[in-house]
Amino acid sequence: MYPNKTVALSGISLHINPKEFVTIVGASGAGKSTLIRLLIKEEVPTSGKIIVGSIDYDTIDKANIPHLRRRIGVVFQDFKLLPNLTVYENVAFALEVSGVKTSEIKRAVPKILQLVGLSEKMHNYPSELSGGEKQRTAIARALVRNPKILIADEPTGNLDPKNSWDIIELLLKINRFGTTVVLTTHNKEIVDALKKRVITINRGRVVKDEKIGKYSL
Ligand code: ADP
Repeated sequence: MYPNKTVALSGISLHINPKEFVTIVGASGAGKSTLIRLLIKEEVPTSGKIIVGSIDYDTIDKANIPHLRRRIGVVFQDFKLLPNLTVYENVAFALEVSGVKTSEIKRAVPKILQLVGLSEKMHNYPSELSGGEKQRTAIARALVRNPKILIADEPTGNLDPKNSWDIIELLLKINRFGTTVVLTTHNKEIVDALKKRVITINRGRVVKDEKIGKYSL
């Protein structure tokens, strides 16, 4: 419940297995963003329990939130890149703030940029990138800390169909490497083609949870 007494989510009981690829769908205002904010501990539930891996959210204090955020990578529709930093620097920054050694940063960043197919653009600024490349940079930045879970909140919302598919392919590849992926999207074609688990949220409740789900709102 939000301070204005809006009940954004109610009676949600979900289990996501390690290494799963899950899509969450729901109309605008259904509660998807709230669910994601709970998972990254940007919001605290009024009641109920959240456990990710072995971490019980009730037991983590402020000091441990950075540790939790390292286990969970998040990418958003609007990329949230730092405009004055290059692709390399944007990704490196995520490690610098966690106190990773420069030698380790120099090793890890090119590797992850190769994984997302951005080696050539390493020294470009966000303004010089296509939407798809910006999202790849954001994904690289999330992945470079080796999270167990990657949350992609409408990652294709600002992309054309070709770039959207490329990003979805990349998320599938990351998932095959062993990272749990939680995707929210409004894109029916993508959801139906994925043939993965789909959780449908409506008015703060899970109304459908299917192993091979379809987009139906
Ligand atoms: P979605 O991401 O599916 O569009 P949200 O989780 O953003 O849905 O919203 C769920 C409900 O919570 C909506 O009724 C929304 O208006 C409300 N809500 C979201 N964020 C806040 C907030 N910070 N304060 C008060 N109400 C909010």
